[in-house]
Amino acid sequence: MMKKVLPEYIVEGLGKVVSQDRIIFNAPLKEYTTIRIGGMVDLMIFPKDLTELTDIFKLLSYESIPVFVMGKGSNIIVSDKGFRGAVVNLSKGFTNMECDEQSGVMKSGCGVTLSKMAVKAYECELSGLEFASGIPGTFGGAIYMNAGAYGWEMKDIVTEVEYMDYFGNVKTINAGDCAFGYRNSIFKNMDVIITGATIHLSKGDKSEIKKKMSE
Ligand SMILES: Cc1cc2nc3c(=O)[nH]c(=O)nc-3n(C[C@H](O)[C@H](O)[C@H](O)COP(=O)(O)OP(=O)(O)OC[C@H]3O[C@@H](n4cnc5c(N)ncnc54)[C@H](O)[C@@H]3O)c2cc1C
Repeated sequence: MMKKVLPEYIVEGLGKVVSQDRIIFNAPLKEYTTIRIGGMVDLMIFPKDLTELTDIFKLLSYESIPVFVMGKGSNIIVSDKGFRGAVVNLSKGFTNMECDEQSGVMKSGCGVTLSKMAVKAYECELSGLEFASGIPGTFGGAIYMNAGAYGWEMKDIVTEVEYMDYFGNVKTINAGDCAFGYRNSIFKNMDVIITGATIHLSKGDKSEIKKKMSE
């Protein structure tokens, strides 16, 4: 598998930027997708933040190793042949989440699940994210495909998205430039990793928010 063909300096380098328990060689992808099918990937890495993500991409780019980025794996089907390259799995990192109750501004990292974000918004008495509480994925994955339900979509609440390109450049883009459409966004045509985003919610009544989430 890839550990054997990867130059020793890459393996060593990865060990220096990410702790060993967040690097898996020869990982069964079926264990990381909701639908529970899919072959092996040579290397799976779980970066926890932007520093690690940048260092990982620098190292992998030295050998032009093919990379696939994933969140919770709730919207991907992997072939039984697996994937020859590296999967950067964002579901265990980028967990920062903060909300300002007065302004209704909420910022989250790409690895936070939509259900956790909805609970946080509820706790802050902010309405607008109830529709997403039952969508089983990460914030990053939801922005990538403009996830939606019950007549609402991510585009209705997202104001700004932060992303990193495969060369490690970090940029911020306004929601108006994200080309959000039905289960679509500009990110589908870009080789980038959505690292986090800002949403805008409105002041709400806690019992009403809870009721909508339950529905
Ligand atoms: C039972 C069930 C119910 C669902 N209900 C809904 C629903 O009501 N509405 C809806 O819209 N969807 C729904 N989905 C689909 C899915 O939950 C959403 O698409 C979710 O937003 C995917 O997030 P994820 O983290 O699982 O992404 P993944 O499945 O891991 O990835 C999906 C795609 O996004 C890309 N991606 C993921 N994270 C990033 C990132 N940080 N940066 C760049 N690219 C990234 C991946 O490369 C991949 O192409 C449902 C799925 C299931 C299994």
